[in-house]
Amino acid sequence: MAKTTSEEPSLAPEVLAKYEPVIGLEVHVQLLTRTKIFCGCSTRFGDPPNTNVCPVCLGLPGTLPVLNKRAVEMAMRAALALNCTIHDHSRFARKNYFYPDLPKGYQISQYELPLATGGWLEVEIAGAKKRIGITRLHLEEDAAKNLHEGFSQSATKAYIDYNRCGTPLSEIVSEPDMRTPEEAYAYLTTLRQILLYTGVSDVNMEEGSLRCDANVSVRPRGAKEFGTKVEVKNMNSFRHLQKALKYEIDRQREVLDRGERVSQETRLWNQTEDVTVPMRSKEKAHDYRYFPEPDLLPVHVSAAWRDEVRRTLPELPEAKRARFVTAYAITPYDAEVLTSSQALADYFESVVKVGAPGKAAANWMQTELLRGLKDSDKEIQASPVSPAALAELLKLVESAKITSAVAKKVFATMFESGRTAAEIVAAEGLAAQVSDTAIEQAAREVIAKNPDNVAKFKSGNEGVFKFFVGQVMKATRGQANPQAVNDILRKLLSS
Ligand code: ADP
Ligand code: ZN
Ligand code: MG
Repeated sequence: MAKTTSEEPSLAPEVLAKYEPVIGLEVHVQLLTRTKIFCGCSTRFGDPPNTNVCPVCLGLPGTLPVLNKRAVEMAMRAALALNCTIHDHSRFARKNYFYPDLPKGYQISQYELPLATGGWLEVEIAGAKKRIGITRLHLEEDAAKNLHEGFSQSATKAYIDYNRCGTPLSEIVSEPDMRTPEEAYAYLTTLRQILLYTGVSDVNMEEGSLRCDANVSVRPRGAKEFGTKVEVKNMNSFRHLQKALKYEIDRQREVLDRGERVSQETRLWNQTEDVTVPMRSKEKAHDYRYFPEPDLLPVHVSAAWRDEVRRTLPELPEAKRARFVTAYAITPYDAEVLTSSQALADYFESVVKVGAPGKAAANWMQTELLRGLKDSDKEIQASPVSPAALAELLKLVESAKITSAVAKKVFATMFESGRTAAEIVAAEGLAAQVSDTAIEQAAREVIAKNPDNVAKFKSGNEGVFKFFVGQVMKATRGQANPQAVNDILRKLLSS
């Protein structure tokens, strides 16, 4: 479920009174293409190591890259969903450095002329909306994956899996617009949701298809200039991002409190000790010697192509939330939960389309359905209760054919067995509309069995009436209409 706030404690008020943190995020996402960005190798995750490789992605001499059009389209989808301007001309560049996971000795990326710039997304923090700028979105290739065996420094073996090498990535760089770890968390959550909705990436942090580096600085509140920034790498979950930012803000604030200066450096998040540790300083920073990639043509995006891609974009989460609130009379909170994924939103709309009331559908989905799915570790797509089946159940409740207490039991049986509500209600005799004759018969039996209480009632003990109602409800297994039970009992007892 998408959450735009988190349980993590925020910064202490006395810290925020004195200092203002500034945060910008650099996010890498793997684009969901079948094949790599410059060759035809598969991008499938989890295949045996070094089985999805060819001379191009292994960087063998004499090979030439060929740009995957689908990768450009995926990046365009993300750029449009993030309100960026897609440039009609962009260009690939070589980013030169040596590392075993980079067989060519350079990464093909975009530098001076990225695919898209100048976008934004909107986050919501404690009910207030805030726009966070997106500086640029560009295309690049992923490096291979290093695997280490053994944990001691001396007994470590390193392996390289080149399957990932050449997987298409988009790097999405934010403006330094965030001011708290919570805002950074909300930005990443919102970005993730947009990328999922647009089908651009499966944004799985565990499998590495979403990676985030955080830039953070602290300045005295009211200062015009930003402070010196530190880049934090190696956070592999949303929670760690937030923890790392909080730690780093506190560390920098203490440096400033001591009258010292923060040094510009890259630090790593150590998640076993919950601290950031220095990795490299600015003096040792890479000089990548970027230059235009001579083996690839510039990328040209025509207005027609851009519009064609725009037409295939789905309704985005924010628009969907607003529409749900007005169209189905549900609360903004309901809408947020129900749009947390496209599949959940589609399910909800299917339930409502076949005639279930919106609010009831929203309530039932957020309680019984989501609980059932969670307990059985199932995704909404694999729900044993289809939207039509849930709608049928809700209509039975709405028309008072069954009580809501009974409906909960029926739902549990539907979830377990896949049978329909009507089938279960008929088979187990759960219909609420116990006929008046059946109620009357039950009432006569209860009265016949309890002459003492009848006498009490007749001598003016009104309290005992409840006893009769309870007995009749019990005899009709809780399915009789309580009003009918009342009326019939009054009639019989006063005759
Ligand atoms: P670099 O040249 O080191 O890559 P950039 O200017 O390209 O730095 O910015 C990289 C990221 O750092 C961006 O997300 C940007 O928003 C963020 N950033 C820039 N300056 C600061 C700062 N002073 N404090 C926090 N984040 C910053
Ligand atoms: Zn290849
Ligand atoms: Mg930069």
